[in-house]
Amino acid sequence: MSGVNIQGLSIKFGHNEVIKGLDLQVHEGEFLVLLGPSGCGKSTLLHSIAGLIDVSGGSIHIGGADMTDAEPAERGIGMVFQSYALYPTMTVERNMSFGPRVAGVPKAEIERRVARAAEMLQLTPLLSRKPAQLSGGQRQRVAIGRALVREAGVFLFDEPLSNLDAKLRAELRRELKLLHQNLGNTMIYVTHDQVEAMTLASRIVVMKSGVIQQIGTPAEVYETPANLFVAGFLGAPA
Ligand code: ADP
Ligand code: MG
Repeated sequence: MSGVNIQGLSIKFGHNEVIKGLDLQVHEGEFLVLLGPSGCGKSTLLHSIAGLIDVSGGSIHIGGADMTDAEPAERGIGMVFQSYALYPTMTVERNMSFGPRVAGVPKAEIERRVARAAEMLQLTPLLSRKPAQLSGGQRQRVAIGRALVREAGVFLFDEPLSNLDAKLRAELRRELKLLHQNLGNTMIYVTHDQVEAMTLASRIVVMKSGVIQQIGTPAEVYETPANLFVAGFLGAPA
């Protein structure tokens, strides 16, 4: 288990500073939801925590260790992104066990993890299927399961439900909440769906143009928005 401590984070693409001196402390075990308009830097922030892009300034600590320049594999994080490409020729079981297999985790331990994640995500009867034989929601569950078997302390989700229809979104929202209650891991979750933010978040971060506008519980940000931007953004229909 671990928290994430971000200090003075700056990310530039050429001359374009997309994250501007951002400070953020994600508490161990919390479900932090990042909200903000398209292009405000939510994905960039997640990618920097994951180690997929270089930072231009500042620091990122995960579980107390300085991970600012660490390789992605060293960071102890699991990721689920919007475009959840599964390996089409592999079964669900092979897709889920791929990461730990490459990392050299012992076979019995991999089997234990896959069985546990499959149970939690109701994938047990589907383990021998190929991705093409699954529905969109089932595929998305496999993508979540694949992240879970890494048994990371921190999970990053980038709009994981945005490609799904409303009914599936509601179902997976419930499953994600249960999962978090069971695992107690740290979640950093990007969405533009306000229902997701309200139901999942322990705290919500509202961003605009690479700057945090407000951090608070769902009740705090909805009932006492810090400024007109937050009030307008949250008031707008999703
Ligand atoms: P969000 O996820 O909040 O919609 P992003 O983090 O994807 O926003 O993007 C923030 C800004 O950074 C956008 O203006 C985007 O065009 C720019 N950006 C993101 N990735 C890159 C990149 N690899 N190269 C150049 N600009 C980028
Ligand atoms: Mg994005």
